[in-house]
Amino acid sequence: MRATRATRALAAVYQARPDAALSEPEVETALAQAGVAVNKVTVYRMLDRFAAAGLLHKQVDAGRVTRYALAPQGEEGAAPRFECDDCHRQFRLSQGSAKVQKALQQVLQALATAGHESLAVDVAVHGRCADCAHPAEGAAA
Ligand SMILES: [Zn+2]
Repeated sequence: MRATRATRALAAVYQARPDAALSEPEVETALAQAGVAVNKVTVYRMLDRFAAAGLLHKQVDAGRVTRYALAPQGEEGAAPRFECDDCHRQFRLSQGSAKVQKALQQVLQALATAGHESLAVDVAVHGRCADCAHPAEGAAA
């Protein structure tokens, strides 16, 4: 992948927010704030290139919005994520992830042993984020 200014800026956006699952408009805004003005087509092309390279994980949330999150690296596998049903923000769950992964590996192994192929797991926890569930407290704090 050629390290153009825009792709470096995109990498920096995700380095600054490693747990974020960003939509294209959010990425476009973040890049603009970083001083890199790129159009929608270019942002989508970069995101798809990052996804194809295995750096980003592409997912569609409950609101049918395509979001891109940092792909879990190495043994980590699919990190569980939390999605707020109100504002559709997504967070990767790092706490307790190892235990979930271990359990998932066992499930996958059992399925593979039974002859199933190309297995993928996408774990999503749905609920309301702290901001949506307690808006007043969030403002006070
Ligand atoms: Zn929310």
